Amino acid sequence: IQSITLDLKDEQATVSLGNKLSTLITPPLTLYLSGDLGAGKTTFSRGLIQSLGHDGAVKSPTYTLVEPYEIAGIDVFHFDLYRLYDPEELEFMGIRDYFTERSLCIVEWPDRGHGLLPQADIHIYIKYVNTGRQIELQAFSTKGEEILACLNN
Ligand code: ADP
Ligand code: MG
Repeated sequence: IQSITLDLKDEQATVSLGNKLSTLITPPLTLYLSGDLGAGKTTFSRGLIQSLGHDGAVKSPTYTLVEPYEIAGIDVFHFDLYRLYDPEELEFMGIRDYFTERSLCIVEWPDRGHGLLPQADIHIYIKYVNTGRQIELQAFSTKGEEILACLNN
């Protein structure tokens, strides 16, 4: 499946979809998350990361650009590139080294790193609709397509 669009009526629905996606994850995998401030990118990431087995809080690494987690043998890297003003910063941090065979990379604001990030398996777009949100998941690899097919069941 190439794309899925779903309505998320409240925060819990956003968290639940993250939980559901977590059951379908095997590394290597790259997810991009786009949407305005407050759309729910971090909320979704929290649902995903906590459901993978992380006990603590999940906050957007706005100032540090990346937050690492080691969960059940998976290197999870949660990026927030909102405050990336110069894509060269990604070169300085050795961005390529994060994208390995063992890693799940979740990237908020991927457009800020355009040209320097590996392609996503799934690009997720979240939009405001009334008091809720609409989410669209688009696959950009065979693996991404397989995950969306499972998610759709
Ligand atoms: P972002 O990371 O995109 O800037 P956050 O996840 O930090 O956004 O914040 C999203 C805000 O919207 C939170 O206050 C959360 O409670 C709320 N929210 C998340 N999902 C939904 C939803 N489906 N409907 C309504 N509110 C939501
Ligand atoms: Mg965020």
